[in-house]
Amino acid sequence: MVIAMLYDTIVARATAPGKSAIHIIRVSGDDAISLIDAVFKGSSLMHCDKKCVRYGHIMDGETVLDEVVVTVFPEPRSFTRENVVEISCHGGPFVSAEIIRLLQNKGARLAEPGEFTHRAYLNGRIDLTEAEAIMDIIDAKTKTQLHLANETLSGSIKDAINALKERLLDIIGVIEVNIDYPEYEDVEKLTAHTLMPKIESVLKDINTILKSSKTGKIIREGINTAIIGKPNVGKSTLLNALLDEEKAIVTDISGTTRDIIEAELNLDGILLNLMDTAGVRDARDEVERLGVERTKSAIDKADLVLLVLDQSDRLTGNDKILLELTKHKTRILVGNKTDLGMKIKLKDEHIINISAKEKSGLSDLAEEVRTLFIDENVIQSDDPILANTRHIAMIEKTKTNLEDAHTSCKEGLPIDMTEIDLRNAWQNLSDILGETTEDALIDSIFSRFCLGK
Ligand code: GDP
Repeated sequence: MVIAMLYDTIVARATAPGKSAIHIIRVSGDDAISLIDAVFKGSSLMHCDKKCVRYGHIMDGETVLDEVVVTVFPEPRSFTRENVVEISCHGGPFVSAEIIRLLQNKGARLAEPGEFTHRAYLNGRIDLTEAEAIMDIIDAKTKTQLHLANETLSGSIKDAINALKERLLDIIGVIEVNIDYPEYEDVEKLTAHTLMPKIESVLKDINTILKSSKTGKIIREGINTAIIGKPNVGKSTLLNALLDEEKAIVTDISGTTRDIIEAELNLDGILLNLMDTAGVRDARDEVERLGVERTKSAIDKADLVLLVLDQSDRLTGNDKILLELTKHKTRILVGNKTDLGMKIKLKDEHIINISAKEKSGLSDLAEEVRTLFIDENVIQSDDPILANTRHIAMIEKTKTNLEDAHTSCKEGLPIDMTEIDLRNAWQNLSDILGETTEDALIDSIFSRFCLGK
């Protein structure tokens, strides 16, 4: 992204391409208001000194392009902190493209994906965690994901990180004064001995935040789940029952619900990324036909295995192979067909008996998944939940820096050595907020946004 072009005026369709009731075209930059005013027939936009909405027409010379409603957000009270105008036009791909073309002819540049949000970040309107949260809101597929993203957007992570940074800065400040002005009496004299508890206290809070990350990551990314079992045990029926029950199949990559290759299932607010469901649906004799290898690979990739067994019959060789293959995995044994009787006595930590056909026991299954993966204390607590892999990695780095600082103190190294580790810790925290983050990384984050965002 070319930073020198930062304040030129950019334009993009903010709504998805294709036919819809309306399209919104967003324009941001110094000239946004005057540029649109020049092609707008209606009352002048130039007198909007605060947010205003105007009805009128977009004119290409003497020709009407479209009847529109224009919303003007004068800087700095806008998403990007620049002058922003949003044109709500009719929702045709051609008409909106024509308006964009007209605005390009008048001097606006077509925005890159995520460029509006990038400007909001560069102009200090949001920090990097909040920008990422905007993307998470757009990507959210469950209520829990949406709630988490909204918390982050409201600054929960930013505030926690800033508080940690401030504490580190206090310690670094005192060390600096100690080193530069040893004669200065008013400032506490830090020694390795007095530094250690201060570092331990920050470490303790870092560990608390990190504790939430397992649950956070599961909420944000879902659980990679393999449904396995011998032929005819009821895997497809279970999948259908879950999909019907939840009415929430989110992705359906290959086209129709009946022909799923990969699917995402919203199970009581938790996203299950179902793996290899084509195998579940199509292969009547999966274990034999596809061989143990394919099943093994699905098991390997899974965070959770739902091993379906037939409660109405004795365990067979195939069941035993699958029980053996999954014995070290996080698994739930799903005893299906309970409506036909209960013949097997399963001994395992996590067993749920169901009838996929009669759709009974499904809520127990959902609850078991939740118990296995979600720490309810984390959900109930007011502390921020760390969920983004980038944030988690940076907090882990910060933790290592602080542990190194602690070791230096313990070994009685000079406190300026400790200061280096503390500075690195501070730097890593700043990187989470995007304050010191490399341009290349920032560009890569924003390029994942859609056009017009
Ligand atoms: P898959 O090969 O493991 O996918 O098994 P299917 O889901 O195709 O089911 C095989 C047969 O078992 C079908 O005739 C289903 O209707 C039947 N079935 C599945 N679940 C149940 C259940 O809970 N109770 C009963 N009685 N039959 C079931």
